[in-house]
Amino acid sequence: MIFKVLTLFPEMINSVMETGIIGRAIKNEKISLQTVNIRDFADNNRAQVDDYPYGGGAGQVIQAQPVFDAFKSVVPDSEDEVRRRVIYLSPQGRKFDQRLAKEFAADEELVFLCGHYEGVDERVLDEIVTDFVSAGDYILTGGELPALMVMDAVARLLPGVLGNDSSPDIETFYRDLLEYPQYTRPEVWHEKEVPPVLLTGNHKDIEDWRLEKSIERTMKNRSDLFRIYTEKTALVNKMKKAKIQNIPASEALSFDDTDIIFSGNSYYLLYDNDVKSFFAGCFEKKNMLIDGYESRVINNEIKKHAKPGDKVVQLNLPDIITDKDYKDGYLLVFTERNPLSTQRVKEYGEFGEYLRENVTKALLLGKTYYVFVEAKDKEHVKMAKAMGFYMSYIKIKVFRK
Ligand code: SAM
Repeated sequence: MIFKVLTLFPEMINSVMETGIIGRAIKNEKISLQTVNIRDFADNNRAQVDDYPYGGGAGQVIQAQPVFDAFKSVVPDSEDEVRRRVIYLSPQGRKFDQRLAKEFAADEELVFLCGHYEGVDERVLDEIVTDFVSAGDYILTGGELPALMVMDAVARLLPGVLGNDSSPDIETFYRDLLEYPQYTRPEVWHEKEVPPVLLTGNHKDIEDWRLEKSIERTMKNRSDLFRIYTEKTALVNKMKKAKIQNIPASEALSFDDTDIIFSGNSYYLLYDNDVKSFFAGCFEKKNMLIDGYESRVINNEIKKHAKPGDKVVQLNLPDIITDKDYKDGYLLVFTERNPLSTQRVKEYGEFGEYLRENVTKALLLGKTYYVFVEAKDKEHVKMAKAMGFYMSYIKIKVFRK
């Protein structure tokens, strides 16, 4: 993994990154770090890179040109093929979390742009940035601390960075649960004893106790995560009972490769693995809504557009099907990250709201975007097209509850 950081304060990045576990990983060449001082690309001899905002207002804005030149100095055109994200740290971005850390860890190179003052000229952001990432809902003086935070969280997921390769797998947020309590020597401290089960050496009992504590904690402190955990567990159990075709999907769910986004009684599966295993798992007639012939058509359509490793989000409409009660529908395949503006949603009324709810949320979560949405008729297909982010559609029969 290569980290490249564009900043006005390279010393801030370097001093933190050279310490501790991350410092060791850099020394051992598990990670490489390159910091670039945007000021070195100023077009004046005062090394000034900021100016007044057009239209007035407080503060200064970092100019487009020095940022662009700094970027080009570490990302030359000859390196176009590298799997890279360019991340602008911004309070307006997607909130950073473990899922995003995992996503970033799969890239070859991450370039961070740290803003300062009132921010950076929008035009250069338009040209180079692929992801806007926020540390949380508060304003910092610069993007350096959030960039360090992201690099730290990503680095520890990379092979060979932590002493024990498997440890990121069993921590908080793994399987949507907070981690169980931890204890170390001595056995009694301030008259408090270590829970006896941990001293038994019985792995099964210890595992059960830990799961119980994780569930208890998550329930108490993070009802949002707990809801996801229970729904996911219920879905996995249901899928396991169903036919053999569900195995890849339920395995993906069990092993945390996949996430479900819930909305009413629909399931959306967000997959990390490739399209093929996704479809192997999904076209199970009973649970899905698409009949055999149509599913092949869709499968082919997806293969045309998706590459292995792409993320797929599937809208799985209500899963109880009666053959009597079906109607024709359209499957819209979305491939752009292009959330709907409020204005557009208003223009398209109820269907706009439907798309906003079902598509935007999914698109904001992943990088590659195949989102299936049922459209009631051709008019909806036209509307989706007019909204600018739909790519193709296939007529299907949609079975309804
Ligand atoms: N005027 C900007 C706004 O209201 O969106 C805030 C500018 S902030 C004072 C300066 C820089 O700090 C930003 O350009 C950004 O790079 C960084 N920054 C501040 N808060 C952040 C946060 N919560 N997450 C990520 N970056 C942040």
